[in-house]
Amino acid sequence: MARSTADIRQAFLDYFQKNQHQVVSSSSLVPADDPTLLFTNAGMNQFKDVFLGTDKRSYNRAVSSQRCVRAGGKHNDLDNVGYTARHHTFFEMLGNFSFGDYFKEDAIRMAWEFLTVTLGLPAEKLLVTVYHEDDEAFAIWQQKIGLAEDKIIRISTSDNFWSMGDTGPCGPCSEIFYDHGEHIWGGKPGTPEEDGDRFIEIWNLVFMQYNRSADGTMEPLPKPSIDTGMGLERISAILQNVHSNYEIDIFQALIKAAADVVGTTDLSDKSLRVIADHIRSCSFLICDGVMPSNEGRGYVLRRIIRRAVRHGYRLGADDIFFYKLVSALSSQMGDAYPELTEQLPVIEKVLRVEEEQFSKTLDRGMNILNESLKDIEGSVIPGDLVFKLYDTYGFPADLTADVAREQNYTIDEDGFAAAMAEQKARAQKASNFGTDYNELLTVEHNTEFTGYTCVSDTASVLEIIVN
Ligand code: ATP
Ligand code: MG
Ligand code: MG
Ligand code: MG
Repeated sequence: MARSTADIRQAFLDYFQKNQHQVVSSSSLVPADDPTLLFTNAGMNQFKDVFLGTDKRSYNRAVSSQRCVRAGGKHNDLDNVGYTARHHTFFEMLGNFSFGDYFKEDAIRMAWEFLTVTLGLPAEKLLVTVYHEDDEAFAIWQQKIGLAEDKIIRISTSDNFWSMGDTGPCGPCSEIFYDHGEHIWGGKPGTPEEDGDRFIEIWNLVFMQYNRSADGTMEPLPKPSIDTGMGLERISAILQNVHSNYEIDIFQALIKAAADVVGTTDLSDKSLRVIADHIRSCSFLICDGVMPSNEGRGYVLRRIIRRAVRHGYRLGADDIFFYKLVSALSSQMGDAYPELTEQLPVIEKVLRVEEEQFSKTLDRGMNILNESLKDIEGSVIPGDLVFKLYDTYGFPADLTADVAREQNYTIDEDGFAAAMAEQKARAQKASNFGTDYNELLTVEHNTEFTGYTCVSDTASVLEIIVN
């Protein structure tokens, strides 16, 4: 029997605990005290101040399975969902961390031992990258681990050099890839075909080695540190003998649940993958206190919900359906994240209300778009149509883009931007309260979320949504 995703998560935590790492719970998707970050997007986020030396802990080794969302900001995988085998908006990042304790050799040795001994992956399926100047990492892989030279690829791009920001800790990375086999399109890292899904990146080992100052000079850190991140869904796919993350246990259950509620039987439809992905990000975001709104984080959440709803509509859903998937999700992930089960009624209610509010807009927008597509010559949807859909009918431009891509159209982005600019000028003339939706994605402030107080009270949920 293949290992379950839950079992792999536990095996990771156990392995590093056995190697003197403190097990630390996942932090919220809403980063604490970091207004520069839209959502938690890596395991190291909650340890940022420990790496910077401004926060001290009672341990100098940690391990975690961190919930992450990459749907906005610097890392945005929203448009990859449904198109690649390996990207989600929500995923779990397994990570081990050394705060000035062990460094390169131990990090590489433990990663290799975990993969090839604990999980039993065949070494010949693995290959690694190192930063082109990092001879030290190259030598460890070659001499201590025994990898052949042609399995160690030197990469000169920023993919293999990590920095926390323009200044501060930074250093080279070494990434571990798994070869899913010749039958899948894609080339080795560092080749033009590397974006294919044959060689899938599973684990990134970051060697925090330097401190970069404002003038660009890099001084060695007195106590170098380690930050690693491995996608749980990607390692699960390998151990469950499937190629795509969407074929692992958790996703198969969600895809089946989604097919049931929208009333389709073709389990391979891309829209089911999108819905299965989006129910995870939307549920966990709401669980962590984000509410659909027209600003900041809430606006990103709203757009993800609307995308999911649009994909359900595409599959023929004839009733509100998205909220019905929360219970399936909680059956899959509630053991690892009990807060999900605790917040289930709130999550369902928020999703239901949001979908109800949006369904009329969606119906009308889709009708207009489909009718207009019949009259369009060529493959470009004019900017003023995208704008009209958005401005007059409340149909978000990124939804139009999503539909367009599916049907091999592109949208005239310049024309759309020009129509937006014109409208902005008009609005500014008319009042001082013009809203620029392109500027809504900045995060202005942080609110600490301390939990819902009235879980069963519909009125309070509605209030949260309206406010
Ligand atoms: P990719 O090149 O495949 O987009 P990445 O280089 O952006 O991945 P990192 O920032 O290095 O990813 O994150 C560490 C690990 O987290 C990756 O090696 C991968 O296993 C996992 N990961 C990253 N992004 C995603 C995602 N959108 N969905 C699922 N897993 C992800
Ligand atoms: Mg990426
Ligand atoms: Mg990468
Ligand atoms: Mg990477």
